[in-house]
Amino acid sequence: MKRTLCLLIFLLLSAPVLASDSSIVVMNTKTHIYHDPSCQWAKRCTKNCIKTTRDKAISRGARPCKICGG
Ligand SMILES: [Zn+2]
Repeated sequence: MKRTLCLLIFLLLSAPVLASDSSIVVMNTKTHIYHDPSCQWAKRCTKNCIKTTRDKAISRGARPCKICGG
């Protein structure tokens, strides 16, 4: 009984790690680089950039920005 409880707590604690990253990023559709919304390059990019989630940007083959780290 105690072991089952421990397993349940373990599963609950590890759940957020397994969840996909749905934080908002700014993705450049031309260069396929995504930025944190606070990044200077994200603010400068208005023409080819779209707001999306990090996991969607990665699934579209985008790479993180070297300055802000995505
Ligand atoms: Zn950036």
